[in-house]
Amino acid sequence: LGIDSLIKAAKQHSVECLHPMAGNATCAGRAVRAHSVREPHLRRIARKGHVYALLPDFRQEEAEGYQAPVKLVGVRKASTFTGFCSKHDAETFARIEREAILPDREQAFLLTYRALCREVWASSADLPFLEEALGSFSRHPDPVWAATQATQMVCHFGYKCAWYNGWKQRFDEMLSCDDYRRAGYFAAFLAECPPFLCAGWAPPVHDFAGRVLQRLDSPTNLPEYVALSVLPRPSGGLLTLTWVGDPDGASSRLAQSLHNLSEDRLLGAVMRFAFIKTENVYFSPDWWEGLSDDERNCVLDMFSIGITHPERPQALANGVVPQLPCQVTKTEIELPEPAVIS
Ligand SMILES: [Zn+2]
Repeated sequence: LGIDSLIKAAKQHSVECLHPMAGNATCAGRAVRAHSVREPHLRRIARKGHVYALLPDFRQEEAEGYQAPVKLVGVRKASTFTGFCSKHDAETFARIEREAILPDREQAFLLTYRALCREVWASSADLPFLEEALGSFSRHPDPVWAATQATQMVCHFGYKCAWYNGWKQRFDEMLSCDDYRRAGYFAAFLAECPPFLCAGWAPPVHDFAGRVLQRLDSPTNLPEYVALSVLPRPSGGLLTLTWVGDPDGASSRLAQSLHNLSEDRLLGAVMRFAFIKTENVYFSPDWWEGLSDDERNCVLDMFSIGITHPERPQALANGVVPQLPCQVTKTEIELPEPAVIS
């Protein structure tokens, strides 16, 4: 995997619409800024139009003791990405933009697809930092250490690109023929709007009981991913894991292990997943500022664990998280249908 070919491939994604039918004849111009967490949802937890966001700095991530900074951002900017032209954005995501999330298979597919497309876009946005980091390695006083680091970084990035491209093709085919049978979801309904919102995408490695689900060790072995959405509903809120995969695959088993937890452990488990495995997370300023220093540090430590270390088996199973002021009222799970062998 050469760095030049990766950069070339990723740059193609950065301004063009990601819709499978995208092209000069079908798109309404270039890709526009759209929200991955809807703006009206962000407004539900905002104070004076602002929420706290996690803004990791790719250049600092390798540093010892790195803690991702959490900063106030305006809701117009928070969670935005440039993935689709205005026409394809409106057409593709109407069922999760204009309707309440139930969820059903189609909405589960769309939530997962948008999370994937955001990551495809984000990985091309990471490229200037990757180039910069590789440049600084070439000037490092310890060339052997620097070469190892650079190889790891390129390898990590290359694997990610290969996996994203693999999934993007599959999702595009399903979207093109309106076939959502391979989508599954787990949903937990809340009596209150949660104080943090999330639209994340990550490959599960261990489940919520610490069992191994899959390994991320080859660019040709496509790992399963899940999207985590934490969002308000007209009354209350919703936590939902959505994915496309096999009924006995890593994502289905992750969701089942979450479904098996008692209600008092479920919220903490979802928070650990959001904070360790994803970074597209937004906090209510009143809630974040109301936490003790210890509680805030717990959350920040989880973000930095996710960035700098391989996942511990018990990472999602145990660990102190702040108490959420929410009550689970109902849970639902729907596994994907098995693949049809033709
Ligand atoms: Zn388009």
